[in-house]
Amino acid sequence: MKVPRALPLVFLVGGLAFLHPSIGPVQLVRIDKGGPGLEEIFKARDMDVVQELATCYLGRLDREDVLALRTSGVAVAILDRDAADKTYLLVRPESARTAVDLRKRGRAVFLEPGALLFWTGAGDPSDALPSGLPRKRLPAFSIVSYLRTYPMASASARPAARDPRVGVIVDQVSRDNLKALIRALQDFQTRRTGTAGCDAAAAFIHDYFHMNGVGAEIQKYPTGGDAVTVVGELRGGAFPDDIVIVCAHFDSTSTMPETLAPGADDNASGVAAVMEAARILARYPTDYTVRFLAFSGEEQGLYGSSAYALAAERTDQRIVGVVNMDMIAYADAMPEDLEIFVNRASSWMGDRLFQDAAEYADLTVSTRVDPSMVYSDHASFWDHGYPALLAIEDEPLQNPYYHQTGDTLDTLNLDFCAQAAKAALATVAVLAQPAGFGPPPPFRLEARSSFFSSLLGTRKNIYISWEPQSHVAGYNIYRTDIPYNYYEKINDRPVTEVNYADRGVASGMWHYYVITAVGQDGVESNFSRQVEVPPVPPKQGAK
Ligand SMILES: [Zn+2]
Repeated sequence: MKVPRALPLVFLVGGLAFLHPSIGPVQLVRIDKGGPGLEEIFKARDMDVVQELATCYLGRLDREDVLALRTSGVAVAILDRDAADKTYLLVRPESARTAVDLRKRGRAVFLEPGALLFWTGAGDPSDALPSGLPRKRLPAFSIVSYLRTYPMASASARPAARDPRVGVIVDQVSRDNLKALIRALQDFQTRRTGTAGCDAAAAFIHDYFHMNGVGAEIQKYPTGGDAVTVVGELRGGAFPDDIVIVCAHFDSTSTMPETLAPGADDNASGVAAVMEAARILARYPTDYTVRFLAFSGEEQGLYGSSAYALAAERTDQRIVGVVNMDMIAYADAMPEDLEIFVNRASSWMGDRLFQDAAEYADLTVSTRVDPSMVYSDHASFWDHGYPALLAIEDEPLQNPYYHQTGDTLDTLNLDFCAQAAKAALATVAVLAQPAGFGPPPPFRLEARSSFFSSLLGTRKNIYISWEPQSHVAGYNIYRTDIPYNYYEKINDRPVTEVNYADRGVASGMWHYYVITAVGQDGVESNFSRQVEVPPVPPKQGAK
């Protein structure tokens, strides 16, 4: 049960401090996945679950919560009996010896294959870790409200429609530009967070955005430590408050992080792809706002992105999806494929990029749903319920120069890098929608649903409505069961009303709708914003 907050929330600019009295010991626990309905128990008791991994959840729970879970047959292991005011890190071990080494530096507990939990008595446990070891801090807040308790539709291979406007955009990606940008970034010698080289690299990225007509600023957050974030933005013409993010971390590390950490693959490659996307998209207006983010503090534990994502949630920003690139230029074997990591709530982004890579780039991608892959900036967005994907060359990593002083441009495969940059840009462009030639996309699409029992089981009626537009012949209605993918038109002729009833659809899954306006010349607009309709809750739908 969450501790009642007796004091009002204290809101800081870009950050937040919780002040609440502690009632009884809060313990850090590992909760075994497996039994169905686990997420329902979390929600019913409003538990402080702070991290999802492939095989378990981690939570800050009191004894009543632990008892409630165990009574329901859930295996709970106590990792730390007093979790008050402590910072915990998830750490990806390099070898079997990592745990032995970490136990000399603090407390280390095995969570599942490839994941250790590390903490120290006081201070920032990140300072006690070797510099190159991937780590992520456990959030100080609950992620329970973001856990989907209903199954998502599973992906299936279906043909996607090609958008020639996206093809034109993607074809502008230049291998030579990417090469020049990677070289410029590696020439800072080190981009270790807090060094002069890191600050100079931030200024370089900022100036590059500005020079190419992209609004830019360098931001710093109270919760971000020394990390700075370079933010470039192109405002959307139709839906400026809905944001598509493409990002990469620009800080670097090595065995000599203060003096020499060229970080060409990790992660000048991803940053170069973000900068190239900004240069190109600046010339093609889109319906949605596109933000180009370069984070630092990633190697210390995602400091820049976690501060950014926290601020985004606290200011109610609507983020459609986040494409995070981290190491996209080393090929251990050709053809090299690009690996995409998503969590369950972001699985539609894996489908999207899979199709866009096939349609607009010469690249094979393989998608894995794995909530344990938290060692890059996309995971900061997962913590706040935002859809996000990671694009990476290999997992497990094959680059022998990873976090070494030899991670330089001459070891990279720039053809692979260019194809990866194209695939990512294609997904960003598809989601942001290049401005159309037809009428404006319809606004204020809303949906409500009712359900009923029939011989076929429980079914839903879904009623959608939108704002009328002048000078149009009508509207087309599209539905899908996978967000932002595979929209299918469900009306025969353009609808002339400003509402539509979709009757008798399956009740147990999510449905998503967009609509278009059809001009009097027959030219169709871009899609409206998407609305989602949840499944019928199990209690109401049960027979
Ligand atoms: Zn990296």
